[in-house]
Amino acid sequence: MQSQEDLKKEIGRYVDSGMPIIYIDTLEIGMYRNLIGEVAKRKHRECATWSLHGGLRSADLSMNSDLLTAVQTIESDLEGKVFIIEDINSQLERPEIISHLRHIAEEIAVGNLAECNLVILAPLQTIPRELELYVTLISTGYLDGEQIKERVREFCQENDCTEPVPDFMETLATSLRGLTETEIDNILALAISDDGRLDMSDMPLIRKQKQQMIKKSGILEMINVKETLADIGGLENLKNWLSKKADIYARVNEAKKYGLDIPKGVLIAGMPGCGKSLAAKAASKTFDIPLLRMDMGRLMGKYVGESEGNMRRAIHLTEASSPCVLWIDELEKAFAGIQSGGTGSEVTTRLFGNFLTWMQEKDSMAFVVATANDISKLPPELMRKGRFDEIFYVDMPKDEERKKILEIHIKKRRPQDLANIDLRKVVDATKGYCGADIEGIVREAIEEAFVAKKEHLETADLLATIERTHPISETMKDSLQAMKKTYENKKFANASLERG
Ligand code: ATP
Repeated sequence: MQSQEDLKKEIGRYVDSGMPIIYIDTLEIGMYRNLIGEVAKRKHRECATWSLHGGLRSADLSMNSDLLTAVQTIESDLEGKVFIIEDINSQLERPEIISHLRHIAEEIAVGNLAECNLVILAPLQTIPRELELYVTLISTGYLDGEQIKERVREFCQENDCTEPVPDFMETLATSLRGLTETEIDNILALAISDDGRLDMSDMPLIRKQKQQMIKKSGILEMINVKETLADIGGLENLKNWLSKKADIYARVNEAKKYGLDIPKGVLIAGMPGCGKSLAAKAASKTFDIPLLRMDMGRLMGKYVGESEGNMRRAIHLTEASSPCVLWIDELEKAFAGIQSGGTGSEVTTRLFGNFLTWMQEKDSMAFVVATANDISKLPPELMRKGRFDEIFYVDMPKDEERKKILEIHIKKRRPQDLANIDLRKVVDATKGYCGADIEGIVREAIEEAFVAKKEHLETADLLATIERTHPISETMKDSLQAMKKTYENKKFANASLERG
């Protein structure tokens, strides 16, 4: 992140060169209002502001009004002014406001309105298409490691508390990454509120605060995981691969010294219901780090810039939470359609660009597990080396794998009955069944046995349930066959042993 002085200079240049709308993407409205005030003073400009709670305020005006009235009031008197607009996100739904702002921006752009700029202070969610041409976007970014340490030192001086020892300062700088200055100040204030000190005993509180922020963002979800690799039947190649990467993560400093790169992540693609999500969850347990799930549906916003803003926030929060596993579920939903050129494809392409650059340059301990069903619509760049460390293809479980899946699910619910079940017969009867189908059969057969007041689950209960059910490979036959062909052509690594 730039220093405040550099930022003032940058904004000063935009003010001088008559940029019609300067949009500062920030949550720290108060801080930036002051900063713009200082820039305006340096440039001998007057400031006017509008916010929902404060209405319109300038040197000679003070009225509680909505944005439309405020703009109509001040429109003819904007020359020589910097007009700061806050709380814009709720206002840009209104076409009459967009139209007024566009008109002012046009007047500035063609030179009819001299020495005037509109400054929007808001977290980036909304830039309507009509205004896009006139907007210069400033992303305020987050503090880097050195800046965080500097902020912690300043905080300690301001609050009369001892500076953390170097080791703890490093830990603190890592755990406060991805947070804004105000958020850092708030966490530090909370941390010293009990004993006036900053030390290791504050770490649980700092972690808890960060979890809250992740929740508040609404884009990422922290998932509690119980599943381990032992809960996955089959997929031995994938499981071995994940175990190796987990070992590197556990000894990452040693590994880096040895000349290894930090593992970036894996794309697990393939048949539905075959354990892809299960593998993402089990990865988190194996790596022994938290699991964050990125909800692509929530990421895609309806305004220009909204999705990218969300993606940036998601990436920062992920980095801030590292070490962690970032699970991107249904990757194809987010990035499909890039080649189609249809509506929204421009946004998707930019979003995709942000994601690729991050994947390419990432050197944090955020391990990405992306899962996808249909990869035929995914852009080929995503599958080039350098993005994911490996791409695995998950097929329908083979005989030996179905046996393991059966064992796992029977053991979970009726361990006492496992020895009496003729697994071979059930395996033979479940050709073409996926893991989720098999789990469903075990669940249903146990329910039937219970309702029939049987003392034990028997092979016949499972076989009777299989008789009544249709596996996914039957109900989705054509699309699954097409999918299989695509994967075979791509020659991805097989998640299962060849003779699974
Ligand atoms: P989708 O593509 O439809 O999201 P998926 O491949 O992610 O499917 P999962 O969500 O992992 O499939 O599987 C659903 C459930 O089926 C799992 O929670 C698990 O109980 C069971 N299951 C699937 N595959 C396996 C497996 N290989 N071993 C054990 N259980 C499995």
